[in-house]
Amino acid sequence: MDMRKNRLFQRVFALLLCGLTLPPLAGCGAGKTAAQTRTVFAMDTVMTLTAHGKNADAALESAESELYRLDALLARGVEGSAVYRLNHDGFVRDGDVSYLLFRAQRISEATGGAFDVTVAPLLELWGFGSGAGEHRVPTEAEIAAALEHVGMERVHREGDTGATLDLPAQVDLGGIAKGYAAWNVCKLLSGAGVTGAVLDLGGDVALLGSKPDGSDWRVAIKDPNGGDFLGILGVSDAFVMTSGVYERYFEENSSFYHHIIDPKTGYPADSGLMSATVICGDGVWADALATAVCVMGAERALALRGALDVGFDLILVTGDGRVLYTCEDFTPGTGNGYVYEQVS
Ligand code: ADP
Ligand code: MG
Repeated sequence: MDMRKNRLFQRVFALLLCGLTLPPLAGCGAGKTAAQTRTVFAMDTVMTLTAHGKNADAALESAESELYRLDALLARGVEGSAVYRLNHDGFVRDGDVSYLLFRAQRISEATGGAFDVTVAPLLELWGFGSGAGEHRVPTEAEIAAALEHVGMERVHREGDTGATLDLPAQVDLGGIAKGYAAWNVCKLLSGAGVTGAVLDLGGDVALLGSKPDGSDWRVAIKDPNGGDFLGILGVSDAFVMTSGVYERYFEENSSFYHHIIDPKTGYPADSGLMSATVICGDGVWADALATAVCVMGAERALALRGALDVGFDLILVTGDGRVLYTCEDFTPGTGNGYVYEQVS
């Protein structure tokens, strides 16, 4: 399996994906409000926002500002960001961060600790941190020492606007930030009168409403092995978030190490999954679950579907070339060597 996919590939893919989702919008010219598109670079990602309906252009302008605002607030490595202050001072007064920590706590409980925003010290050790740290395999002693400071019980909310952290524990909101950003932007757009939008946040996609003709959006799902795409999903009013072990990784002594960390072991998750796509009406759940599912593996993830009070669908790619999907409207790709299986 060729896992040598780099950031450039992701960006090219994002554009390809747009190509697949945009034509339906582009066709809504005469007599209706034309679709407006805007490209934004935030959260280290090229984002393409397309909207139609009343005030689309002005709404996209505010959407862009909101993305920059959240980027500046949540970037752990940016001195002065709210997350930076929490990690350095052990305290921050910020409504967004406090809310996200509250959501992260709930998601951590629901996923048996697979999602845990206090994995930051482990990310640093493996070189997936906020700075320009070297990728390397840490020693077992280093991992054990970092694990001492991992666990959501080290995070405390102070009312609706504050949070404290038991230092030297550190928080990283990278597994939840894009979902929250997409969610906020959707709220903002619909509040401004936009009736349909496609937000492509570097392969994580939010669909507001449906296509101008009322039918579902068609979204190409990323192939973790670099093929064209896994299949086409028909969906409306949903967040389609993908996490994969191929997104950020390095190789050492013929072993492969990636950026999704199992908070229990301190090592990159080894659940048998190459990627997890979560389709959910809530952007924060969708994003966090995609990360958590990569840690949990197929069996636990599918079991969680019945156990949560939040509904979601899954498209899972296993290391042995199977695609397991729960969605009704998913058209598998052909000739790509995968074995597809619809599961419940
Ligand atoms: P992206 O789409 O930006 O690559 P993902 O949604 O796939 O990100 O989430 C991966 C990111 O989540 C990592 O880069 C790291 O910041 C954070 N992370 C890694 N492991 C975990 C975990 N077990 N729980 C919560 N966050 C994690
Ligand atoms: Mg995620």
